[in-house]
Amino acid sequence: MDKQLTSFSNLVDALSKLPSIGKKSALKMAYTLCIDDIALGLNIAESINEAVRSTSKCSICGGLSEGEICHICIDSLRSNGKLCIVSHPKDILLIEGLKEFFGRYCVLESIKDFDFESLIKRINEEKIEEIIFAFSPSLSSDVLITHLQDKLSHLNLKFTRIAQGVPSNVNLDNIDHFSLSKAFMYRVDL
Ligand SMILES: [Zn+2]
Repeated sequence: MDKQLTSFSNLVDALSKLPSIGKKSALKMAYTLCIDDIALGLNIAESINEAVRSTSKCSICGGLSEGEICHICIDSLRSNGKLCIVSHPKDILLIEGLKEFFGRYCVLESIKDFDFESLIKRINEEKIEEIIFAFSPSLSSDVLITHLQDKLSHLNLKFTRIAQGVPSNVNLDNIDHFSLSKAFMYRVDL
């Protein structure tokens, strides 16, 4: 690209580092932001700046938060004995969008770094009775669920998992709203 267009080139390079954005799409996006829709460009720049500075992970559930503890963990009405385990913070946003689950969450991104002690502490303190696994069906999530059930077997818990309508090896964010909602409503006992 033209050597004089340093800032524009830097923007294209930065955008092309985003997941699933190639150089061509990055160039198109940069053109839109800098030329076609300057107001949108400035709005996105400001939103990114603010969101990056204020968003972090909740110290209790691992979901997205704008403070040390997220609004779900703070809300006492959400303490209804149900804990939904997801594999990524963004899955919480998907499930919240269904407006069908009113319990609390726990993000388990990697079994290696997962703190079982604090999960057990939460189960006791929050009087959890049901653990819902909201993982997309796959062999690795089956293994993970069995492992978790095993680790928590000494506690008096009901285990369920979302099922119907969720195809194997598909991320939750690729499932349509209706199917995910059905999968949640008709969760199966383990
Ligand atoms: Zn939280």
